[in-house]
Amino acid sequence: MPWAKNKDIEKIRKAIVDTVEELSHWGERIPKVWNDCEKFLKENQKKQIISRNDVTMFFRNNYPETEKDINVDDILKFYHEVGLILHFPNESLKDVIIVDVQWFVHAFKHIITDPKHFDKHCGNKNEFKSFNDFGILSDTLLQKIWTYNNKTTKSCIQHKSKIIPYMNKLGLIAQIDYESANQTDAEKSEIVDEVKYYIPSMNKMNFDLSSISKIMSGQRTSILHFKFTDFIPHFFFYRLIVACIGKWKLLDKGKRLFKDIAFYITDGQGYHNIAIAINESCIQVQMFRRDNRELEIEHTLSCREMIEEMIGRITSTFHKSVKYVTGFSCKDINLTEESEENFLEERDIINLVHEFACPNHVDKNHQVDGAKLL
Ligand SMILES: [Zn+2]
Repeated sequence: MPWAKNKDIEKIRKAIVDTVEELSHWGERIPKVWNDCEKFLKENQKKQIISRNDVTMFFRNNYPETEKDINVDDILKFYHEVGLILHFPNESLKDVIIVDVQWFVHAFKHIITDPKHFDKHCGNKNEFKSFNDFGILSDTLLQKIWTYNNKTTKSCIQHKSKIIPYMNKLGLIAQIDYESANQTDAEKSEIVDEVKYYIPSMNKMNFDLSSISKIMSGQRTSILHFKFTDFIPHFFFYRLIVACIGKWKLLDKGKRLFKDIAFYITDGQGYHNIAIAINESCIQVQMFRRDNRELEIEHTLSCREMIEEMIGRITSTFHKSVKYVTGFSCKDINLTEESEENFLEERDIINLVHEFACPNHVDKNHQVDGAKLL
């Protein structure tokens, strides 16, 4: 630092010393209770999973006088945020605390990596193909993957019912519900005993545009874009696909799941459908009907609200703040098609309900009908 005078260096040194001192004061202020809890969580790591009740009991036994003042959920939230444990306070998950995060990560990594292992250890070619090509994993195959000759993953079987909901919450895996009113009894009995999961990151299937146009030949909305500014949206797309499986039925019993696009039925009768797709910068959403009738506005809007709520939730639980804007393409495009230069942000056109000159293409005198977009 030739441009720094000695005096400046002194200042920097002092600033560092002050900072360190502040930190150590902060360290002293961390209540002993929290420290002890951290120790307790670490000591239990070899169990992989403990219950919330185990933590409550720990405080009851060690701090009988102050137990009522201790907020267990605050403590668990803190250690979740710093990455020591996994704990979500949702009703269905709050009793389970994953105290060995590495083990949990490994449990998932083991499913999606090393495809060579499947062939060798997991026998059935069809099961393997279905998983490796389409991301559809049978429960039998999952058991086999977790069982064969691996100490770490054997414990996954034991904790299966607890870790699958956590993987689901994180958007890694979704259990597929095949039940459908339109199914024949034969179809039902064929699949009823086998639980299946969908792992979107494994799906390698490209869709065929002509078959997509066929199923979407009826009434449809314009394509709503969620354009991400700082992140590639794939990660959020997977989470959204998983979250939607919990909300809606898959169209055509899951035969419409592709690498970059998924289709769902959004109403009980099967009239309204939604396509959720991805390109380089956007998640795209489009509602459609397969018969010739009009889309019901109220239902369409409630689906949009649901999608927005889900995307909001998915992106807000990410460790960094994620920005995105909504909008449309000024030109007709197909789902998954890139729309960067044709993108119109919704807030810029929300009041333009008639035809207007497209701001993206001023020199080309391109007209856009606002009423059709929104
Ligand atoms: Zn334009």
